[in-house]
Amino acid sequence: MYDYFPEDIKPYIIPKAKGELYYQCLGCSAQYPIDTLLYVCPACREVLLIHDRNAESLKKIPGSIWQKIFDFRRMLKIPALKGIYRYHEFIGSCIPLESIIYLGEGHTPVVEANQRLQEQIGLTFYYKNDGQNPSASFKDRGMASALSSIKYLLDRKLISNVIAICASTGDTSASAALYASYLGPLIKSAVLLPHKKVTSQQLSQPLGSGAKVFEIPGVFDDCMKIVEYLSSRYSVVLLNSKNAWRILGQESYSYEIAQDFDWKMKDKAIVVPIGNAGNISAVMNGFIKFLDAGIIDALPKIIGVQSEHADPVFRYYLEPDETKRKFIPVNTKPSVAQAAMIGNPVSMPRVIQISKKYNEIAGRKHVFFVQVTEQSIMDWQLKANHNGHIACTQGGECLAGLVEAFRQKIVTPNETAILDATAHAIKFSEFQDLYFKSEIHEDYKVHSNPELINLPSLVLPDDQAMIPSQLKRLNEKDLQKFVQNISDKIAKKLNLELSDSLLKKI
Ligand SMILES: *Cc1c(COP(=O)(O)O)cnc(C)c1O
Ligand SMILES: [Zn+2]
Repeated sequence: MYDYFPEDIKPYIIPKAKGELYYQCLGCSAQYPIDTLLYVCPACREVLLIHDRNAESLKKIPGSIWQKIFDFRRMLKIPALKGIYRYHEFIGSCIPLESIIYLGEGHTPVVEANQRLQEQIGLTFYYKNDGQNPSASFKDRGMASALSSIKYLLDRKLISNVIAICASTGDTSASAALYASYLGPLIKSAVLLPHKKVTSQQLSQPLGSGAKVFEIPGVFDDCMKIVEYLSSRYSVVLLNSKNAWRILGQESYSYEIAQDFDWKMKDKAIVVPIGNAGNISAVMNGFIKFLDAGIIDALPKIIGVQSEHADPVFRYYLEPDETKRKFIPVNTKPSVAQAAMIGNPVSMPRVIQISKKYNEIAGRKHVFFVQVTEQSIMDWQLKANHNGHIACTQGGECLAGLVEAFRQKIVTPNETAILDATAHAIKFSEFQDLYFKSEIHEDYKVHSNPELINLPSLVLPDDQAMIPSQLKRLNEKDLQKFVQNISDKIAKKLNLELSDSLLKKI
């Protein structure tokens, strides 16, 4: 800490581990101690959320002081507080700084779309690039939280020899394997992936981290069933978002947006893609907590987006009468937003409960769900990335969702949208490749728009004998000819004109 920090925040700037966390069941409200490994309620099998008995006492500190604490924490050089635990009191307040794992996650850039793109969409919007997390997706937020909680139990000798497992559409396993490998050999990880339903980049990640990787025939929902069975019978740590610690860490996404927009959330709309629905649950929960503590001025609008090929949450909310809604899992169809291709989201009970609360606190309907086509997901991803973004297909889904929300007047031109670019574009570049080659399988229902196609062109010299290779180098004269010949061809393709200064030199 620095002497010149303001006196009113000095007592709080380094957080103390004094939270009293507990698990609470979303079904029967039973409470369970936090120092056990628990994923569903032992009584009714429903999912859990983590609460803090100390939450009320956080309100004794005025919101304006919290804002100052978080702003000044930005200057600290303590690794444990450089990531999601900048918001320690709101994110896992029982964990001492020594148990916190920091691999560079969080505080991802918020990038305003350029004028051209904003004019096309009709309102001001930003992408928050969560693909700039260490494993290149937002999953690192929740994983930093889950693995810190495990480290805490290991440090207290409450557990040992941990085998951590998860099912994944690709990004959870990449993140789980990364964080687990950091804690090796205390913890070993195993991941289950739907065979041929993750990109080769995503498959390479857990392999590179040294995790045991199992490919399972079927889709994500099938892998999830196996993981659930394993965790109910064997002694394993579950790293899926069923694990409530994942949700807690993911709330940092909202806290960062709040801080980046100077705590002013009025007239803001947050757009998130929905798969297993952990992310949207956490995002809503985070804003509720910050509003409750007086840190933000209002709740932003929430817009959840689903593809027409994996839309169980959207379908659930089609029924306007809350009492008549009934959740029905869907059979997914192939989706370019593959990380969100889930028909039976684990966090559905969380979405139902938290969005209800969210609307109640906002005093009006403030959580919306829109459905988009596969075609619009691909087209908007490519358009975004033609304008300086690094959106993955799910990031494209967000932009397609914003366009749809704008069309339905869910958002209006005076509002500002913040879109979740949930992973880095390169993780999903296979879909871009297929689009550019017009080879996306017909089941996806995506046709390549010629205006968006971009392919490399191979430039060969006129004289086929004049091709340099590593084994056979050209002599100086031939190389000169080769360079001239190729350059002339490129210049022609680019319509280059000879530059004046160059002419003068000649
Ligand atoms: C996991 C994931 C999603 C879906 O998030 P949920 O929390 O499962 O709803 C979206 N995009 C990417 C890139 C993901 O990895
Ligand atoms: Zn219960």
